[in-house]
Amino acid sequence: MEKIAIVGCGAYMDTGYGCVGEWRCLKAAALGQGNIENPSQVLAFVKCECPGRSLVANMRMAIKMLEIKPDKIYLSTCFAKAKPECPYLDAQKMAKVLELNTGIPVVSGTHDYH
Ligand code: SF4
Repeated sequence: MEKIAIVGCGAYMDTGYGCVGEWRCLKAAALGQGNIENPSQVLAFVKCECPGRSLVANMRMAIKMLEIKPDKIYLSTCFAKAKPECPYLDAQKMAKVLELNTGIPVVSGTHDYH
């Protein structure tokens, strides 16, 4: 079973009705749905905080504390496909920065649920 870490948009997680951080991502991981093709173990759920400057450092710290390297990092759907778009970060650029800084492949988007 793949071991994964997820990055959520904190601005959405704090205000999105029904998002408790975040059941859609966790369901997709448990069932292997959406972009998470197979049932996966979620090792870490890292919350981005505006303006996003601490995200890479926080992810690196989460991986260090875990002492387990995730197979993949997923940007949550609320992070990668935000409408309106994040005023601070380009999700595609952040995916590349996270890959460079962790050596772990980054996938944009988790679930397709509404
Ligand atoms: S910086 Fe963007 S992605 Fe990060 S919490 Fe704020 S709005 Fe969400």
